[in-house]
Amino acid sequence: SIMPATLSAISNGARNGILFKGGIHLENLGHLKAIAFDKTGTLTRGKPEVTDVVVRADWNEQEFLHRAASIENYSNHPLAQSIVKHFTKSSNLDLLTPSQMEDVSGWGVQASLSNQKWMIGKAEFVGKDLADSFLDGIARKLSKEGKTLVFARDDKGIAGIIALKDLVRSETAAAIEELRSEGIHTVMLTGDSRDTAQVIAAESRIDEYIAECLPETKVDEIKNLKERFGTVAMVGDGINDAPALATSSVGIAMGDGTDVALETADVVLMKNDLPRIAGAVKLSKKMNSIIK
Ligand code: ADP
Ligand code: MG
Repeated sequence: SIMPATLSAISNGARNGILFKGGIHLENLGHLKAIAFDKTGTLTRGKPEVTDVVVRADWNEQEFLHRAASIENYSNHPLAQSIVKHFTKSSNLDLLTPSQMEDVSGWGVQASLSNQKWMIGKAEFVGKDLADSFLDGIARKLSKEGKTLVFARDDKGIAGIIALKDLVRSETAAAIEELRSEGIHTVMLTGDSRDTAQVIAAESRIDEYIAECLPETKVDEIKNLKERFGTVAMVGDGINDAPALATSSVGIAMGDGTDVALETADVVLMKNDLPRIAGAVKLSKKMNSIIK
């Protein structure tokens, strides 16, 4: 049966926008030694804006974006939605209808459009060597600015890249500092490139970052963290974060996250409010000391 101290702490949490799916999760938070965060939508606002578009000489920017947006329209990834929004803001052309569309989670999308096969996503997805040889210096400069690069490949090679910048939430750095002052090691896990990850990690004041993760490698990183530290939480919002949420000692979902993340998590931050986590850790420590 549930202890009165636990019950009172859970209802205190609920009034403060943090939902526990059971007393054990609140208790575990008090023993937390490390916490891992997904980048996009968790540390950042998850609403990236297109900042730069660079196309191969035989493409014109609007025509290129028309193709890219038409394909991304079939993906629900935050980058995809931002690319579609960027195009439809500046054009009244209808989007085209691709065929054989495939959304490859953590990598990108592929589809056929106007008799060409397109691949849109990270460098490793469209072909790392092709991506590296296109633009070299420019691509590097953009990712050093913390921008995420989306590569688009047509039948002739890299047709262009779209750079997007997502802002770190205004409360992220303070939330991380507070967790650190509770003696908790902080880590960012992201599918994005090393350069981009480094900038976002620095802006978030996070202790450690692991870049170029796939949904499967996020799970392995959580297992590693559990071996290194013991009790480990994972905070995420996406479908692709669900396996890592399930593997962690305490899975925490952002309230605006996808249904799968909300269902898999042990704890839900109802208002996406990262500072609530440190508050809950303190509450849990207090509760655990009363129970013992
Ligand atoms: P994160 O860990 O930052 O939340 P994801 O695991 O969702 O990122 O995706 C990893 C990377 O895969 C993205 O940074 C992007 O480069 C690429 N990617 C995935 N889906 C898409 C898409 N629909 N369009 C373009 N790029 C994509
Ligand atoms: Mg995410």
